[in-house]
Amino acid sequence: MSALREEIATIIAHEGPISVERYMSLALSHPRYGYYMTRDPLGSAGDFVTAPEISQMFGELVGLWITEAWRAAGSPKHAQLVELGPGRGTLMADVLRVGRVSTPFLESIDVHLIETSPTLEAVQRRTLAQSPRPINWSGDFSHTPRGPLFVIANEFFDALPVRHFVKGARGWSERLVGLDQRGGLVFGAAYEIEPDLRAQAQQGAIIEVGAIGQRLMVDIAARIAADGGAMLVIDYGYLETSLGETLQAVKRHAYVDPLAEPGEADLTTHVDFAALARAAKSTGAKVLGPVTQGAFLRQLGIAQRAEALSRRATPEQRTDLAAALQRLAGEGDPRKTMGSLFKAMAVTHPGMYDLPGFYPAR
Ligand code: SAH
Repeated sequence: MSALREEIATIIAHEGPISVERYMSLALSHPRYGYYMTRDPLGSAGDFVTAPEISQMFGELVGLWITEAWRAAGSPKHAQLVELGPGRGTLMADVLRVGRVSTPFLESIDVHLIETSPTLEAVQRRTLAQSPRPINWSGDFSHTPRGPLFVIANEFFDALPVRHFVKGARGWSERLVGLDQRGGLVFGAAYEIEPDLRAQAQQGAIIEVGAIGQRLMVDIAARIAADGGAMLVIDYGYLETSLGETLQAVKRHAYVDPLAEPGEADLTTHVDFAALARAAKSTGAKVLGPVTQGAFLRQLGIAQRAEALSRRATPEQRTDLAAALQRLAGEGDPRKTMGSLFKAMAVTHPGMYDLPGFYPAR
């Protein structure tokens, strides 16, 4: 039994069953044994691969988008550029490299990386050692100074803990993680909650609520609505809030039981983009999209970028570029391509004109 599983079993033995939210939070962020705290999970040798690790094209296009958003905000002289959950720092390195094409942009931004993992912060410090701008680290977005705000979040919201509610014979209750007869971790339901959460559902149905993500979105969108700026969220997720749960655990590129090895596998959910959009709009901010990652990247010119890079590439690099283009923007099998499973959504100041990637299809 992993050390964290033992610790969670002890917590449950003392306090009773815990929420899925607390379970996820312990599994991912326990200071000693949490999944992200102890390792660099990214890359082919790790547990999963993200878009910026597939190809520089992804970060370059996100960089162009951010500089364009800064221009659309009136090129503010003093702005905050924030990345939530920067992983290895690869995306920010690509964004800042593209930012060099616009000196006024680079000179106007303070860079803030929001990261809870000391292991990944160390990797980010190495990746960004040559950064053209000084970089600040914080474990919490709320410490970011006020002012026009530009936020990037790639595969971040999926890592935030969610709550589950399950419909039983007498109504809805929160789904909890408890202990079975032999001390193993199991899902169960405990106290009853408001029975009118969803009147229509069948018994056994589950609702997943990303309360932590929605609160963070409200905080960020409220600041964008007040101070100006824009946020780009890219993640795997769905367009309409619906019944069902999406909690999944991934270890070495394969799915495993989410209760089997807390702290040893990546625990995520699919992001409810409709809920994030509602949270953002409730502050008066404007929401663009969500659109598929494929549509977003194609509108920003990923095909042209791949072609330009191919012109001065070796035959082998050319094959890699074609594969990366297909993987990032292709809309086939979601196990092989990200283009349709992943969505892009932007939150902007209500007065800002629409940004590229989100123009209506012609
Ligand atoms: N954006 C990166 C990494 C995605 S993995 C990429 O696209 O490659 C998720 C990242 O979020 C990791 O850096 C992880 O340590 C960080 N993270 C997870 N939960 C967090 C939290 N509550 N606050 C800040 N960072 C968090």
